[in-house]
Amino acid sequence: MRTFGCRMNAADSDRLARALTARGFQESSFEDAGIYIVNTCSVRDKPEQKVYSELGRIAEYCKAQKKKDALVCVGGCVAAQAGEKLAERFPQVRLLFGGDGIARAPEAISRLAEDPRLRISLLEFSETYEEPFDPLCAPGLRDGFDVAPSVFVNIMQGCDNYCAYCIVPFTRGRRKSRKAAAILGECRSLAERGAREITLLGQNVNAYGLDDCGDGTSFAELLRALSAVPGLLRLRFVTSHPKDLSPEVTAQFGDNPALCPRLHLPLQSGSDRILKAMGRRYDTAAYLDLTERLRKARPDIALTTDVIVGFPGETDEDFEDSMRMLGRVGFASAFSFVYSDRPGTRAAGFPDKISRPLALERLARLQDYQEKAGERLLRSRIGTADVILLEGRSRMPELLPAPGACAAPSGGGGGEAWTGRTPHGFIVNVVPEKGSDAPFAEGGLRGAMLPVRIESAARRSLKGVQAGRPW
Ligand code: SF4
Repeated sequence: MRTFGCRMNAADSDRLARALTARGFQESSFEDAGIYIVNTCSVRDKPEQKVYSELGRIAEYCKAQKKKDALVCVGGCVAAQAGEKLAERFPQVRLLFGGDGIARAPEAISRLAEDPRLRISLLEFSETYEEPFDPLCAPGLRDGFDVAPSVFVNIMQGCDNYCAYCIVPFTRGRRKSRKAAAILGECRSLAERGAREITLLGQNVNAYGLDDCGDGTSFAELLRALSAVPGLLRLRFVTSHPKDLSPEVTAQFGDNPALCPRLHLPLQSGSDRILKAMGRRYDTAAYLDLTERLRKARPDIALTTDVIVGFPGETDEDFEDSMRMLGRVGFASAFSFVYSDRPGTRAAGFPDKISRPLALERLARLQDYQEKAGERLLRSRIGTADVILLEGRSRMPELLPAPGACAAPSGGGGGEAWTGRTPHGFIVNVVPEKGSDAPFAEGGLRGAMLPVRIESAARRSLKGVQAGRPW
């Protein structure tokens, strides 16, 4: 299974993998696989092209190895956008499923594995949020599924906003909220199995509960209910549309201890003229007002954002406005991209397209500025105390044991480098003291909360020393 794109795709793939495992399928290497599942993204042109090259790679490999019966399944936004044309171009593609079809994909894969002549398309949108089968939520089927300390849970599908540049409403359909009882059930099950941090996912989670598919629970009420789940220590959510962030949710950054002080709030442009053309339905004054209210509720909140550079008609002045907004808000980090036409969107038909070299030049300036701002913010953490959730072994070379050095027994602690995140979402690498893993079971320190003191900062992460017993 290969997954492209956003965290919603990653979460969909995880659930699909669990459902397939419960049906008796096994994960295997690329070479040994009989079934290839590609979960795709078409939010920009580049990830879409990567999907086509991955499908080409699979087709070539199967041809070279004479794997005539290999089954290729394509899910996600490219499947929804290209539809049957994908199966015509790559004949081994026998299953197409969109965001709403994933719930029925495991059963379809079982049928396709039995019958090599069958082809199935699950691309239609459904009226309600379809609950996919998840063995973690099925009594008696919970053993044998590994749960990470930090996990993602889908709370809605689709989006109704139709921003001018965005393909999501066309590929994932209209907004559909998941029932709160199902979300709570999945989160309880994950927490019982060791998850300590949950990130709620949706294209615009702030609009959760505003459609007819939920059960009347608002997003603010959902956050309150989830913060009472035993064992669940941290809550995050992504992505937020600024126009839908309610005062009730904003206030919870100040009074809900489970809600982490980090928020991704896509700005997209710092120019009111461009925001209007994008159809974002807020201006920079409203955005700044929102960030002020968030900082009033939680002064140390870390804000992150998305910025599109080179939107049709973006002048030098518009771009400078975006740069000024980065300076005024002070983001911890920003995902920034060059605009690319997406088929069927309004912006694809807009005049005054920006040349790629000019857009790339602007992007480089913006990224350079933000990178330096991010580094300054990380350096400002040096000397502070924090608690990190240990997620796994660190890959930081200077923290790893030298070749030939005595490594601690597997299970963690005692000289091995670990990595975790602070509530603000900063990555911290640390070598826990020997014996720190003693009270923990065989997973070692994975999932433990470790007090640290920050000693130094790298470009994108921090280095800390242990400052107390893990718990
Ligand atoms: S709110 Fe987000 S997902 Fe929805 S249309 Fe706008 S950019 Fe796309």
